[in-house]
Amino acid sequence: MRFWMRWSAWLCLSLMLWTAAAESTHNHPSQTEAASCSICVVAHTASPTATSSNTTPAFTTVALLQEEAADMKARLEFADVGIRGPPVL
Ligand SMILES: [Zn+2]
Repeated sequence: MRFWMRWSAWLCLSLMLWTAAAESTHNHPSQTEAASCSICVVAHTASPTATSSNTTPAFTTVALLQEEAADMKARLEFADVGIRGPPVL
């Protein structure tokens, strides 16, 4: 890996970690500032819940399996492997 790629990867990783640390530890001296802070607004909103209207599984036929006989020939001949056959008496 080149030096610049490694250096930029470490820079991005450290920026991400510092941003996460700053977001999780910041505080506001007053409630009015906290109300306008986008990080605090997102942190204090209720988390969305997953909703599903279909609670029972639906078992339906998608397709039918149609078997076909496989009639294939062996492509690997005995002489192609390079193994000598049994001795003929
Ligand atoms: Zn905040």
